[in-house]
Formats: sequence, structure tokens, C-alpha cells
Amino acid sequence: MAFSLRSLPRAGPFARVSRVRWMSGTGTQTSLPDIDPAKLQIHKTTSPKPIPPSETLKFGHVFTDHMLAISWTQQEGWAAPEIRPYGPLTLDPSSTVFHYAQCLFEGLKAYRDVHGRVTLFRPDMNMARMNRSAHRIALPNFDGAALLDVLKQLIRLDKHWIPQEKGHSLYIRPVLIGTQQTIGISPPESALLYVICSPVGPYYPNGFKPVALHGTTEHVRASPGGTGAYKIGANYAPGVYPQKEAAQLGYVQNLWLYGSEHYLTEVGTMNLFVVFKHEDGSFELVTPPLDGMILPGVTRDSVLSLARSHASGALRLPHLGRLTVTERAVTMPEVREAAQAGRLVEMFGTGTAAIISTIDRIGYDGQDVVIPVEADGMGPVSRSLWTEIVGRQTGAIPSEWSVVVDE
Ligand SMILES: *Cc1c(COP(=O)(O)O)cnc(C)c1O
Repeated sequence: MAFSLRSLPRAGPFARVSRVRWMSGTGTQTSLPDIDPAKLQIHKTTSPKPIPPSETLKFGHVFTDHMLAISWTQQEGWAAPEIRPYGPLTLDPSSTVFHYAQCLFEGLKAYRDVHGRVTLFRPDMNMARMNRSAHRIALPNFDGAALLDVLKQLIRLDKHWIPQEKGHSLYIRPVLIGTQQTIGISPPESALLYVICSPVGPYYPNGFKPVALHGTTEHVRASPGGTGAYKIGANYAPGVYPQKEAAQLGYVQNLWLYGSEHYLTEVGTMNLFVVFKHEDGSFELVTPPLDGMILPGVTRDSVLSLARSHASGALRLPHLGRLTVTERAVTMPEVREAAQAGRLVEMFGTGTAAIISTIDRIGYDGQDVVIPVEADGMGPVSRSLWTEIVGRQTGAIPSEWSVVVDE
């Protein structure tokens, strides 16, 4: 029986996250302590590390002087948050994270904006998503606003690590792991939440470089009813080998195609957008719906929101013209047909690391489908959206998406 994506229940990914703490088997609410910023303890390093020159930064290789750690137990709830010198964790080898991937993560950035302030971009969305991931793998939930509060204190302490150069930022990696010491697989009775920070340069230091994708049908990243919509560690290790295979075939990343219809889902670990041109000359910006297989990206949501503002006339973005914005299933045969008919305008991926990554070629069904790209490596829609998002991240365009951490 052919499986239809359209019949899937909608997950409501941005639904308000309940503060009900997951308890083993009982599902009851407790009054155990939540994360409490008033209890934060700060232990500063006595041996600050040298800050490497910005031009030597490779993505995610260098970490700042401090980290944030908050432990949790089922009996005591969340312990006092602690900022301490960056360093190794000591964990029992039986800790469930090592065996069953009881692990989730987030990724967001702190920017040094054009006014010299330190800002975050829509961090509330990361806190909400982190709680949804935690709920999905039976790790404890927490007060997202409280975590954000202590996270800001970590950033203020290490703010001199944020590179000043254009396009640079501080990548922030919150992690939550199950630390219970047992071989049994069950909801962990202890967990550790920690946050580390890494100064990073621009994803494309020498201008945009479109990527070639391998239309992957022999592996799946996510499936209906699975966990693709959550940023849990278990989703990522299985994607490394297919990426190596794609590289051997001469492509940069996997374009994850699902089902016999070859539905487009995501590209590598980015969300995916396709722009079609209709007969009346208008553009349609399409992204796959949040049907449970798609990670609800903050960048994806930002692109949709800006494009919809343009479509409704609330905002004027250059070069977008008449635009419709749709979250709908799109198949590889539809993309190939549009490319052959000259109705494909562009394709791109979105995510915090690169913001927008354009695509120039897809290896599919024994042939390369060529995707239009302009001389600067972008297309009319991606260029416009990239400018709008970066403007809001750098403070050049005032926006409530930009949250000030430090004046
Ligand atoms: C993190 C991630 C994204 C992008 O999410 P952003 O919030 O925009 O960074 C997209 N797809 C996958 C699979 C991801 O893990």
C-alpha cells in the first residue's frame, strides 16, 4: 500500500511545552525544584586560555573558558546551576547515555551586533525545542526561561570570546544526557544538563558556495512515527556513513528522500526549501510540512515568517515579487520536471550554522538534476531572505527576534 504523507497527523511542533515533569511511569506533577537562577554558583577559571585568532577558527573545535552544568535527580529535582571552568566530565561507564543514546542537544548563536551589544536570536525557540526533545526520550523537562537566564550569565562571563569580525559568532551547544548508572533501559533517575560555547567564523568565508546533493533513497534519516522531529543524539550518528557514501560519489551532502514517491525531507542536517515559478510569473516557496519527519528549525520558521510577511504585504522584500508560501509535500519527480521545464527557481537548505546554503545539483535516479544558481552563489529568494535574517541577527534591522544579553 502506498503510504501518503498527507494522511499523517500534524505534530503541532510549536505547541506550548508543558511544565509537567516526566516521572517514571506515574506521569504526575511534582513540586521538586526546577532550575533556579537565584541559586547559580560561579567558579571562575584561574587559568584562562589564550583566545585563538579569528581567522584560524574551524567550526566547533575551540571552546571558551567556562561551561554551565546543572544536574537532576528524580528524588531532588534540579540542583543549583553551576558555572565552572570548561573541562572533562566524570561519568560512570554504566551511565545510560553511553549505551542507549539518552542524549539531546541544541544549537544557537550569540552575536556581537553592530551596536556592540551581545545578542541571541530567538533563544526561546531553542528552549522550547529542547524541552520537546527531553520529553520524547523521557529526560526531565525544565523551565526554559530559567535555563536561558543562567545561559546568558555564562555568555556574559565569556563574552570576550565572541569574535568581533563580520559573520563571526559564538556557537552555543546545550546538551542533556541521562546519567543513571544501570544497564537497564528505562527513564533515567539522574540526568545532567550542560552548555558549552565555541567561537566560530562564517560558514562560507569566501562567499556562498552552492552544494551538490546525493538524492538518497537507500537510507532514511527519519520516518513517520519516528524521532526525526527531535534534536536527539540518536538521529545523527546513523547519518554519518550515508554522508561518507555521498562524498565518495562526488556529492557534499545527502538529500534525504522518503518513500516510493521520493518525498523531499531534509538536506544533511538542514531544512529544505524549493522555489517554483508558476505560469503567471509568481513564485512559490515550498518546504515540507512538520509531519514528524522534519526537524522544526528556528531558521526554517524565520524564513517562513519573513516570506509570509512579504506575501501578505506586511513587509516588502526585494526581488521576491508575487509569492505564495506553502508547507506541503514535494517529490523529487516534481522537482526534476520543474527543472526540465525551466520552472525551478532555486533550492536551499536552512540552519543555524550556515543560515542558508544553496544547492546547484542533485544526483537522482542515475542523472544530475541541475538547479539554477546566480553568479554570487545564491538565488533571488535566498539572497533576499538571507539579508533579512542576517540583518536581524547583526542588529542592522531592529527585531524582537534579537534578544540582548549584554549592552
Ligand atoms: C538543527 C537542525 C536543523 C536546523 O535547525 P535550526 O534551528 O534552524 O538550526 C534542521 N534539520 C536538522 C535535522 C537539525 O538537526
